[in-house]
Amino acid sequence: MPLKLTFYGSVDEVTGSRHLLEAGDMRLLLDCGLFQGHRKESIEKNKNFPFKANSLDAVLLSHAHVDHSGALPLLVKSGFSKRIHCTVETADLARIMLMDSAHIQAEDAKFFNKIHAETGERIEPLYTEVDVGQTLQLIDPHKYNEFFSLGEGLKAQFLNAGHVLGSAMIEIEADTPKGKRRILFTGDLGRQDTLIMRPPEVPPNINYLITESTYGKRVHEPTYKIEKELTEIIKKAALDNGVIIIPSFALERTQEIVFILEKLIRAGHIPKTHLYVDSPMAVNITEVFNKHLDSVSMSPKFKRYVTREGDPFGMETVRYVKDVEESKKLNDLPGHRIILSASGMCEGGRILHHLRNNIEKDNTTILFAGYQAQGTLGRRLVEGAKKVKIFGLKHDVRATVKMMDHFSSHADRNDIFWFIKKLDPRPLKIFLVHGDDENRTSLLELLKANGFDRVECPKPAEEFKLD
Ligand SMILES: [Zn+2]
Repeated sequence: MPLKLTFYGSVDEVTGSRHLLEAGDMRLLLDCGLFQGHRKESIEKNKNFPFKANSLDAVLLSHAHVDHSGALPLLVKSGFSKRIHCTVETADLARIMLMDSAHIQAEDAKFFNKIHAETGERIEPLYTEVDVGQTLQLIDPHKYNEFFSLGEGLKAQFLNAGHVLGSAMIEIEADTPKGKRRILFTGDLGRQDTLIMRPPEVPPNINYLITESTYGKRVHEPTYKIEKELTEIIKKAALDNGVIIIPSFALERTQEIVFILEKLIRAGHIPKTHLYVDSPMAVNITEVFNKHLDSVSMSPKFKRYVTREGDPFGMETVRYVKDVEESKKLNDLPGHRIILSASGMCEGGRILHHLRNNIEKDNTTILFAGYQAQGTLGRRLVEGAKKVKIFGLKHDVRATVKMMDHFSSHADRNDIFWFIKKLDPRPLKIFLVHGDDENRTSLLELLKANGFDRVECPKPAEEFKLD
């Protein structure tokens, strides 16, 4: 069967991952991510698929982050009714992530329509919880490393990608006149040096590679520095009797931070501290992590720790807060404590209440542990703003603001290069996606300088016939 790849999204940018693989008369969509960015532009991009939703035969989903999964309910709304394949862990996480996405859109539309009531300008949510419910019914969960059939002469399997719980590379094997052809899509690739996840698997005999390139130019700091830096910050805050507020992403980052803090407390490196995870979504996701502690995607080192110590996410010691009234009361409590809350870039959610109540105190520490996009409150704080607006009111920033750069669940330049070099034999062609121009070009140059001469940086909607 002839093979053709078309790159529709997340090509020269890092959101909206969507790639179409045509194998004979089968049409497979790899990921169906949401574009994120300026509101109007992304609404249009998200709503208009460049293919007929009902012409697809299946979707293969690499992992639960919404820039890879978040447009699935739109696809279903547009007429897609076949199977959505993913790992068992991703199926559990996608339920939470997609419901949350529908909830955020409803809130966002309500707020937008309220402040534009006079002009009559309105937006509608892209999809609702009902659409998400229909989408979830199409999900077909698979174990890692087990091939499943997609049609005659066409099968696929999920391999550990090491990025977040359940994250997978998608390997597709097709019978062609030239023999079997194997295509590997990395989705988001994890690091070698990880806290919880198992580093990516390296499969043999890949003919075509589609790889992410988010950090094609950058090299991450090693993770061992995290414990040292956190220890110093927490010891100081404890002495000052101050609050530490950590804006955190619900999937992976929250679990990583809680895991490290619990470890530091158990080892006696930091004083026993009141630790609160104040985000209903983070609570639900941590429950999924606890359900899958034996997952292929968890590292052997982490599993050994769990066997030895038990309870890695402190279900018995950390206060996980779902109730909104309890969340409000956290600000009346005296003394040193650590509060993890969403959203990770301080764009909405409970974190805003904690900031409002503590940002003007000089013994407060605001600790960022993830990338802060342009235009967000998080970015303004990281850049050293002296005054910020929260809920429309101005606040002086007297708190200490710190950025911890060592957290990342993405492979860096060295990790991606290591992975590509390990592939044996060398792929016939490598496609670089999911990276801005600077990062893709930098990675392309590195590969060319090392003798990889068939590397492509596809343009949006560009087609490639695979031989
Ligand atoms: Zn991701």
